[in-house]
Amino acid sequence: MEKIVALCKRRGFIFQSSEIYGGLNGFWDYGPLGCELKRNIKDAWWRDVVHRRDDVVGLEATIIMHPSIWKASGHVDSFTDPMVDCKACKKRFRADQIEPQSGLVFTYTGAISDNGNVDTTHVKAFVELGKPDKPRDNARAEKVARRYYEEKGIQNPKLVGGIEIGNGIEHVSNTTGFCPECGGQLTEPRAFNLMFKTFIGPVEDVSNVAYLRPETAQAIFAQFQNVLACARQKVPFGIAQIGKAFRNEINPRNFTFRSREFEQMELEFFIKPGTDAQWHEYWVKERMKWYESIGLPASKLKPYIYKKEELAHYASACVDVYFDFPFGSQELEGIAARGNFDLSQHQKHSGKSMEYFDDEKKEKYLPHVVEPSAGVDRIALALLCNAYYEEWAPTSESAGSAPIPAEHGKQAPAGFESRVVMRFAPRIAPVKVAVFPLLKNKPPLVEKAKEVFHLLRSQFVSFYDEAGAIGRRYRRQDEAGTPFCVTIDFDTLGEKGPELKDTVTLRDRDTLKQERIAIKDLPAKIAEAVK
Ligand code: ATP
Repeated sequence: MEKIVALCKRRGFIFQSSEIYGGLNGFWDYGPLGCELKRNIKDAWWRDVVHRRDDVVGLEATIIMHPSIWKASGHVDSFTDPMVDCKACKKRFRADQIEPQSGLVFTYTGAISDNGNVDTTHVKAFVELGKPDKPRDNARAEKVARRYYEEKGIQNPKLVGGIEIGNGIEHVSNTTGFCPECGGQLTEPRAFNLMFKTFIGPVEDVSNVAYLRPETAQAIFAQFQNVLACARQKVPFGIAQIGKAFRNEINPRNFTFRSREFEQMELEFFIKPGTDAQWHEYWVKERMKWYESIGLPASKLKPYIYKKEELAHYASACVDVYFDFPFGSQELEGIAARGNFDLSQHQKHSGKSMEYFDDEKKEKYLPHVVEPSAGVDRIALALLCNAYYEEWAPTSESAGSAPIPAEHGKQAPAGFESRVVMRFAPRIAPVKVAVFPLLKNKPPLVEKAKEVFHLLRSQFVSFYDEAGAIGRRYRRQDEAGTPFCVTIDFDTLGEKGPELKDTVTLRDRDTLKQERIAIKDLPAKIAEAVK
């Protein structure tokens, strides 16, 4: 993972937000390549979920909405995670994400400061069981306990307790009650609401509280009747939205995987009650296929099917799409059959009817909904992890050989050199084609290369590069994941005969094969690969 994070910074995929001020935990910026990648993900989703279907329309709602929306949806009362704090180092964790630990627990019953101040509160400190090493274990636990008393104002504390097994020290197995970082005692879990709060207008009081939306979906329910009235759609039909969402995650981690600001792509597909199971199954299949269409292999994708007891009380089915990240198999998207919970809540809280009139059957009902809800940033991260390859690529002396997977810790064999290549599916690659003149100090080559570049950039995200040796320019594009490189050489100018005039070499990023192709055939060739 460190290598992918380093490449993301080096090549301009992802930067830490506000890096010059030390960064901001849980916030990330996308650089020149990263924002193209994200845009391609969103465009692919929008094309496949909205434009290529007759039964889905779009919506773009505001991030800040009437706070009653979040009351009705249940987010004000129950969008919480259980949070614990370390009593010694003060770090905060999600209680349900603490890995069980086994080791020794030392109990201290108080401390006395240099100047005679006494604190008689009890505190525990945990030392993971490694090789038995009592004096060192004691010292580690004491350090943690001292920190606790120091935080409470006891200067240079002398500890009481933590003496020997059975008397202040005990063996524990699989405890989740201690800080995974320092071993300090954790507080009891407390519910922590994940919504970011703000105020509307100049007065900061409770009547002006608003929230940054923690999901995009609720706006779709709130605007259901307006969309229905204008979109000329009949149930079953869907409303889709892409946009920012904000969650004050207790413990942002795994690079961008768990961020505090992220983007979602959500579809609410409204259906007739009773058809929930068949539509849910349909959308799970559609969504799994979609991930393959953007280049994530089926072998790394897994559906996690919720058991009955894991479902929310209103849901009849839920499947999460998991991807095998380097840090484990984790969720990219959730596809839930939510019944009519959301529409009925908004009907109740707003006093406005959310019913649908079926004019064939002449009956009114509250539609049920199937919700595929995906995270753009998690998909971008999955694509980055999946695309990253270290290889040995042939140098000019082994030209024509295929690249070989690099072996960890070994040098490339003679005739090969190491390369990092991002094997994005062409459809999703940030830059589709790079154009190079063979030499930058030959004006006719440069002029022709710019002509080809202008031809291609009118249709594809293209990149022009004349700096450095041609091999270096190829390597840079390999790291950017550009599927095609076009080189303009003396043959292009017709110097070796008229039959090669206005042809270029087209290099394939993955196979490294180079073919000679007429400039006029380039757009169709690239369009075929990236469509
Ligand atoms: P998790 O269990 O991982 O917190 P969730 O089940 O709460 O996720 P949903 O509420 O179903 O997530 O949100 C739908 C999608 O939004 C997720 O599948 C994920 O892709 C994305 N998402 C949710 N929270 C985050 C986050 N903190 N950072 C990045 N993406 C997120």
